[in-house]
Amino acid sequence: MNISSAKLEQAMPHDESPPSAAGNDRVHRALMDNVHPPIWRNPSPTDTYNLVVIGAGPAGLVAARAAAALGARVALIERGLLGGDCLNMGCVPSKAIIRTSRLYAEMRDAENFGGQVPDNIDVGFSTVMERMRRIQARISRADSVRRLSAEGIDVYFGEARFVSPRAVAVDGKTLQFKKALVATGARPLTPPIPGLAEAGYLTNENVFDLTECPRRLLVMGGGPLGCELAQAFCRFGSHVIIAQDDPMFLPKEERDAAQILSDALARDGVEIHLNTTAVAVRMEGVRKIVDLVSEDDKFSVSVDEILAGIGRAPNVEGMNLEDAGVRYDTETGIHVDDFLRTSNPRIYAAGDVCLEHKFTHAAEASARMAVRNALFLGRERLSGLTIPWCTYTDPEIAHIGLYVREAREKAIPVRTFTVLMHDVDRAVTDGEEEGFVKIHVRQGTDRILGATVVARHAGEMINGLSLAISSGIGLRALARVIHTYPTQAEAIKMAADAYNRTRLTPTVKSLTRRWLAW
Ligand SMILES: Cc1cc2nc3c(=O)[nH]c(=O)nc-3n(C[C@H](O)[C@H](O)[C@H](O)COP(=O)(O)OP(=O)(O)OC[C@H]3O[C@@H](n4cnc5c(N)ncnc54)[C@H](O)[C@@H]3O)c2cc1C
Repeated sequence: MNISSAKLEQAMPHDESPPSAAGNDRVHRALMDNVHPPIWRNPSPTDTYNLVVIGAGPAGLVAARAAAALGARVALIERGLLGGDCLNMGCVPSKAIIRTSRLYAEMRDAENFGGQVPDNIDVGFSTVMERMRRIQARISRADSVRRLSAEGIDVYFGEARFVSPRAVAVDGKTLQFKKALVATGARPLTPPIPGLAEAGYLTNENVFDLTECPRRLLVMGGGPLGCELAQAFCRFGSHVIIAQDDPMFLPKEERDAAQILSDALARDGVEIHLNTTAVAVRMEGVRKIVDLVSEDDKFSVSVDEILAGIGRAPNVEGMNLEDAGVRYDTETGIHVDDFLRTSNPRIYAAGDVCLEHKFTHAAEASARMAVRNALFLGRERLSGLTIPWCTYTDPEIAHIGLYVREAREKAIPVRTFTVLMHDVDRAVTDGEEEGFVKIHVRQGTDRILGATVVARHAGEMINGLSLAISSGIGLRALARVIHTYPTQAEAIKMAADAYNRTRLTPTVKSLTRRWLAW
């Protein structure tokens, strides 16, 4: 077995008490059978591969499957679990628990929906985590080792290491390749805070293994991971303190979007400390005491657990990239050109290991592009991709394209059309009125440059704008698209209608009036 026991430990549900223990074991076995079967025997390479893919997260899986479907001889190497961060310790487990946390928030809010708040809202944390693991096991079927093998992919478990510019070693075997793709992802950054390592802390690599909900939890970092999990754990009943060393959450997002999130977290009961940095940690009995510094103030908080979500570091170490002639640095990862080619023209990279935007859909899109460029003489450019993203808090915050500040920096004149969700009928009927749709167009045209959506389902809504931008559809055309009523996505059509009204200049109005009179 090549997987490190520490990695396997991470994926193991810890001591669940009966009667769920047997069920948990079954779910765990089903998951492991798909993502890293205990009895797996690596194949023996017989010939040069068209493509060797290192890392079986979203980028590696998509690349291997796309290449194999087109008839290439493909090897896929994974040192841990198929599915990578997304399935095992990222998107899937976080979205699963966020959904349950929303259920609890809605139960507490039942009166606002004409219902009754249950007498006793008892959060069964172990049941929440069981559901999460069942979902992981179910989703893992789509990319199971059996399915990949059936598609003709040679799957190797083990740590991959380049032994030359044209060969990779894994599990004592040497795999020759015509082309290789590095898709080794990223890992959580370690906060350099004195005492933290000794006290112990959580990251996305172990937070989903928790068996008890911490009574008091400090979340360090107000990016997407910190905000999503702070809200979820607060809704499970933790007293959550969040410290962000910036004046606002999600620093990249538009200020008003971040403010709505801040208000939403505060309303949920999260204790918010902006402009605040953790500087030291010490133990007092079983409690972790964290010293925090905010502007002139110094104070301490006492918590049961600390969750660090301060950023991600690319996995570039230990692969012997130097011998393969692949340039990289430990901050931005593998250096690629606009075609995703590294400094070794036989080797490409995709996903978190080389991208600024570390998202599953970006990893997958870059992997498809890398395969086309590497194997089929494609000339597709990374800079040609328009990548949306979303933070899955309640409300969700989604964005695509340019921010206004970026347009200003590039001296692009912008006009913005904003629709508030409280003017959208479906948002009102659903009691989900918080947020807005803001669409930026190039002044004097209907060309969409960027958009921000803050809404309960912003992650779904942004896809319509993504389609518009990537297909060159402007607001004029969007205004003609019939949207079903009542839906929250109508907010996008309302913004397009607002654009159309600006075309009614006094001259146009007077002409239409004369036409109608005639
Ligand atoms: C808590 C959390 C929530 C997230 N939520 C979302 C979300 O909602 N939406 C979204 O789009 N993104 C989300 N992300 C980001 C998303 O998980 C990543 O962008 C995505 O997993 C990147 O895919 P990847 O294939 O590049 O890398 P990874 O998923 O990290 O996969 C890389 C794989 O390479 C393997 N590997 C590394 N080195 C080697 C080696 N030397 N040999 C063999 N194998 C190796 C690793 O074991 C790993 O399995 C979230 C991330 C976190 C942490």
